Order: sequence, then C-alpha cells, then structure tokens
Amino acid sequence: MAMNRNPRVLPDDVYNQTLISNVHPADWQNPEPAPRYNLVVIGGGTAGLVTAAGAAGLGARVALVERHLLGGDCLNVGCVPSKAIIRSSRICADLRDAGRFGLKIRENTEVDFPAVMERMRHIRARISDHDSVKRFKELGVDVFLGEGRFLGSDTVEVAGETLRFKKAVIATGTRPVHPAIDGIAEVGFLTNETVFSLTERPRRLAVIGGGPIGCELAQAFRRLGCEVTLFHNASHILNREDSDAADIIQQSFIRDGIRLVLDCKTRKVEKKNEDKVIHIECGEETEAIAVDEILAGAGRAPNVEGLNLEAVGVRYDKREGVKVNDHLQTSNPSIFAAGDICLNYKFTHTADATARIVIQNALFGGRKNLSSLTIPWCTYTDPEIAHVGMYERDAREKGMEVETYVRPLKDVDRAIADGEEEGFVKVHVRKGTDKILGATIVARHAGEMISEISLAIVANLGLKKIGQVIHPYPTQAEAIKQVADAYHRNRLTPFIKGLFTRWLAWRR
Ligand SMILES: Cc1cc2nc3c(=O)[nH]c(=O)nc-3n(C[C@H](O)[C@H](O)[C@H](O)COP(=O)(O)OP(=O)(O)OC[C@H]3O[C@@H](n4cnc5c(N)ncnc54)[C@H](O)[C@@H]3O)c2cc1C
Repeated sequence: MAMNRNPRVLPDDVYNQTLISNVHPADWQNPEPAPRYNLVVIGGGTAGLVTAAGAAGLGARVALVERHLLGGDCLNVGCVPSKAIIRSSRICADLRDAGRFGLKIRENTEVDFPAVMERMRHIRARISDHDSVKRFKELGVDVFLGEGRFLGSDTVEVAGETLRFKKAVIATGTRPVHPAIDGIAEVGFLTNETVFSLTERPRRLAVIGGGPIGCELAQAFRRLGCEVTLFHNASHILNREDSDAADIIQQSFIRDGIRLVLDCKTRKVEKKNEDKVIHIECGEETEAIAVDEILAGAGRAPNVEGLNLEAVGVRYDKREGVKVNDHLQTSNPSIFAAGDICLNYKFTHTADATARIVIQNALFGGRKNLSSLTIPWCTYTDPEIAHVGMYERDAREKGMEVETYVRPLKDVDRAIADGEEEGFVKVHVRKGTDKILGATIVARHAGEMISEISLAIVANLGLKKIGQVIHPYPTQAEAIKQVADAYHRNRLTPFIKGLFTRWLAWRR
C-alpha cells in the first residue's frame, strides 16, 4: 500500500474519524528531526510501536515512521475488528442454540448487520487511543507520517526529511496476497483491508482460504447471516493443526451451514450480471458457484518493496520477507527486524515479543534469541484451537519419543454444564518424564486456557507440578489438571500398585 497523505477509513463516520484522528491525523506535522537517533523504526504496527515505546522508555532517542495508520494490521484491519464481529456472531449462534439450554426465543432473531459493523468501528476507535500519535509523542517518540526508505547505511528518508540513525528496525509487516485466479482482479474482491468497511451484508460470500484468517471470518459472516462457501486447497481446513483438532472445527462449520469446497481447482472468476461466478473443478466434476462478494484470506506477502533494502545490504525474499539471524539482526549488522516482516509466526504477540528482543539486542548489544521464545497461538473459531510448543510430528522429527495425554471436554463437568463439550486438552510429554513438549487445546475459550501450559513450559514446570495446582471447580481449565492426573495414574505401575495394596491391607 503506497503512502496516503490523508487516509480515510470507510465508512466516513464518527468512529472512523476518531480512529483517523488518533492514528493518522490530517493536520499532523512531522517534527524537526534530531541530529541522530539511537533507533529509527520503519513501520508503526505492533512490532514498531512496541519497539519505539520500549526504547524511548529506556531513554533512547527514537523516530517512528508510519506511512498509513499507526496500529498496523492488528488494530485497523486484523485482530481488533475481527474479534469484535466474532463476538456478535457468537451471540447469533448462542441464540440459534438457545433451545438446547431450555430457552424459547419467541421472536425470530434478526441480525442488524450495519449495527454489528458499527459496534466494531466503535470498539476499534476506542482502542485506537492506545496507538495514537498523541500517546507516542507523549512517550518521547518522534513520529513521522510518511513512507520510509533507506538512503544509506545510516539514513532513512521520510516525507523529504533525512533521519540519521545508529540502529534501525524494519517492522513493515505484510499485506494480503491477491489470489492467482483468472479474472478475479477484474471482478473485484475483498481482503482484510476492505472487508471491515462493509456496511451491508453480502447475501452470498465466497471465502478463499481455509487457514486461520479465512476460517475465523467465514464462520463469523455465516453466523451473521451470509451464505458462505469456503474454498480451501487441501482436504481439510486449518490443515496445519492436528487433524483431530481441525476436524472438530470442520464439523462445527458444517453444522453452521458453511459450504466447504475442499481440494478443488479454482479455474476462473467472471462477472454475470450482478453475480461473481467462480468456476471450480473437483476431479471430473465442474461447477459454477455464484456469489455477491469474494473475500481473499489466503496468504500474506511481506512489505519489502520501496525500502531500498539492496542499497543497505539487507537480504530479503519476496515471499518470506527480511532475513534475520537468531538475534533478529539482518545481514546489515546495524539494521534489525521485528514482527511479521521476518517471522513465520505472524501474530501480534510475536510482533510484541520480537520487538522486546530487538530493543535489548540493538540498543544494549544483547544476545537475546528468537529461538528461545515459547510461542502460543489461537484461532478464534468456535470452538477455538490453541496450540503451544511442539506437535507430536515435530517431536518425532527431532527423534524424541513422546507420551500423549488427552482429556476430552465431554468428560469435564463444567464443559458439560456449559453445553460446550466439543474439544479436548492434549498434552505431549517427553517419554519417561513429565516435561511438557507441547499442547493443543480445542475449547470455546481455548485461547484463555493455553497460557497455563505456556507458563509451565517457560518456567520448566512439568505435568507433576500442574497436578499439584488446585483448579477451581467447576472450570473447563480443570481439563488441564485432569491431564496431569492421568499422567500420575500412568506412573503407578502394577508393581507399585501391588505394593500399596498389600501395605494398605496390612494397615486395616
Ligand atoms: C484478519 C486478521 C486477523 C488477525 N487476528 C489476529 C489475532 O487474533 N491474534 C494475533 O495475534 N494476530 C492476528 N493477526 C495477525 C496480526 O495482525 C499481525 O501479526 C500483526 O499485526 C503484525 O504486526 P507487525 O507490526 O509486524 O505488522 P503490521 O501490523 O502489518 O504493521 C506494519 C506497519 O508498517 C507500515 N509500513 C509498511 N511499509 C512501510 C514503509 N515503507 N514506511 C512506513 N511504514 C510502512 C504499514 O503501513 C503498517 O502499519 C490477524 C491478522 C489479520 C489480517
């Protein structure tokens, strides 16, 4: 996306005006550059903001350069708006299922789509205060709005000004990949950059891509009343997750009434009257599927263009982004990178965590390692899938033997009471030990539950320790404790059990 001097976020209502006034005010005057900065940060998404705020807080002179909206994807067109509409969509599903809970909803529930989107815009505007130029100015950061590019090995140019730096950080993030389908550009499609500007509900929506972004949005829009067809080029949605976990989500999608088109070739898209018609080929069969809108949610491309990286010797790849070593240093030792631009794990919390590593390594000559991070993630479908550490396949690839403990939620009292029995807690330990290698949780609030396991991994606490932690009854997180109990039971060999039985008989 090229620099936009006065960006507008549609619709141009009071909420989006507030958003803009926080994250790219029209009347913003870039400051007079300091003679030299400890750190110049290019990109004002999560990675850039956390780097700039943290470095300034430690006394560094910092310039932050953003060409579009501070807050980047997460605030403006990612996590925040998606989670806001997912919340509304979950209520739709709860009302639909109310009969299961003994409730009669008398009137037919109607989705007020414009109101759902307005609520989202309101929330985004409120949260935008945290990422505002005003706040960053108060934190002592020099904020420059404009497109940044390297001029030389210690200079960045922005809006006609030259910023001199000791160290620089590339935090320019990614953008949606445009699907390589014949005719799609002419017909037009939505991406995460435009879908949150909708004010009218598309009656029929095609979602291209069954990864986390496509799945979250497909389910949300379906529950908000769109007829949704989800296209995915594998035999299973969310195919990076374990198939037992992804299958639960797939079944939930089918129950929601999402049509899944899996493992088919999308040949072309054409316009017929008002319809966008997608031609697919599945084995011998062909089909034409007519929709009103297409949402592309498959793949991200790194924002490496226009930065003049060649001139400063920063190696990059057009698909994978800026190359960094384990200290997040690029091939130019004075230039570091953080966030989506250089990571496989494209999440806000990893953008944040890598920014913290960069502050220490760039400013204080630290040797903090990317590989030392324990990175959990969560896909906010219903139920959610959260994961941390290794999958069983990763452990086996590394030649580690694993033992796996699983607790299905259908055996957990609180999940039964909540009517949220779909899912499980699955923990892998190194065979013969209680050392946790990884875990997957499928549950309605799996994202809230996974941190207990992340903490255990980071603090090197084994399943035995988790077994000693009293969990309030009844909670769904008890499933984690019950996994630990299963581990304990497994330790009780027939020999030890025999000894106990004899000793207890003698004590009677
Ligand atoms: C629909 C969706 C939902 C998501 N949901 C979640 C979620 O629930 N949880 C989660 O953890 N992650 C989620 N993500 C991912 C998350 O948004 C990203 O991982 C995060 O925003 C990465 O932050 P970043 O700072 O690395 O990059 P970005 O947020 O992309 O920020 C990069 C910034 O750099 C600016 N920039 C680029 N080039 C230049 C230049 N030359 N000069 C100046 N500025 C420049 C851009 O304008 C942008 O503001 C979601 C993403 C999407 C698309």
